Amino acid sequence: MKLWITRPLPDTVIEAARAVCDIEVRQETLPLSGDELRRALTEFDVVLPTLGDAFSADVFRDVPHSRCKLLANFGVGYNHIDVAAAQACGVAVSNTPGAVTEATADIGMMLILMSARRAAEGERMVRAGAWPGWHPTQMLGLHVTGKRVGIAGMGRIGQAIARRCHFGFGMDVAYVSRSEKVLNFPARRMPTLKELAASVDVLVVAVPGGTETRHLIDAEVLAAMQSHAHLVNIARGDVVDEVALIAALEARRIGGAGLDVYENEPVVPEALRALDNVTLLPHLGTAALEVREAMGMMAVENVAAFLQGNPLPNAV
Ligand code: NAP
Repeated sequence: MKLWITRPLPDTVIEAARAVCDIEVRQETLPLSGDELRRALTEFDVVLPTLGDAFSADVFRDVPHSRCKLLANFGVGYNHIDVAAAQACGVAVSNTPGAVTEATADIGMMLILMSARRAAEGERMVRAGAWPGWHPTQMLGLHVTGKRVGIAGMGRIGQAIARRCHFGFGMDVAYVSRSEKVLNFPARRMPTLKELAASVDVLVVAVPGGTETRHLIDAEVLAAMQSHAHLVNIARGDVVDEVALIAALEARRIGGAGLDVYENEPVVPEALRALDNVTLLPHLGTAALEVREAMGMMAVENVAAFLQGNPLPNAV
């Protein structure tokens, strides 16, 4: 059995993978090319892909008799894989839920604070040697403690952010979700996303990416937000209509935004980079060694289960 790991991963993960089967580790850090995606399905029994490895319907169509029978994705988000097309070709898909939750929620909370309190803008000013010194009306931001946060996508990460907001910062929590939630903190379920957007000081996006959620945060939702409110996106870039967001930020129709993800990563539009009222992080959600190790171990557990003929612990 041959496993292809499509990026360099922490040593502990590589060792764990080597203990379960023959492995080849691709050393490049960019996503698989079209040829490599097809090679993945023809030359390996299992592939451990990640963000950006675009296993689209076209790729499966080109390799109808896939040798690969499992895509053990490194990451909870798998919108880069057409799961229906994979399954139609007999290729199972697994992911790494849970391992990423707290770290991504930390980045969500950090973006709430950075955007509301103008941290990136202030840091740039200090680095530029342009700080004139403290004075009472300088760089006034939005006070976060006690404000109201809205969560779009009250899943694992959405709840972890809400918990931080409620227990750490005394915030009111409101949310929208498709299914009923049992929560261990007070939170108000709103009937629509627009009503949620209109009622909060900070709107946080935590839904999965993909066709169903593409541009869920569009010009109308942004227009519904209060002029002092901030948008935070730790989900996937295409959940937010980036052009509409740039227009809202340029016109100062919202207070600001904190982004960890972008529509066409790693391209971040010049118009966005030129704005002071947006905080831009390079997709840092899970970027901590122990988190990447936990994600890798979870992916390897799925590979091991597959090789032993056992049910996948994290099938999607
Ligand atoms: P999760 O537990 O599945 O939560 C996602 C939530 O979104 C669920 O509660 C879900 O159902 C809701 N949802 C799904 N489709 C929706 C739709 N069409 N409209 C409205 N709500 C919808 O997933 P998670 O572990 O929290 O992860 C969420 C996403 O975060 C991942 O898919 C990934 O893309 C992203 N992520 C980003 C980073 C990063 O580095 N920035 C790291 C990890 C994950 P209900 O509506 O029924 O509640």
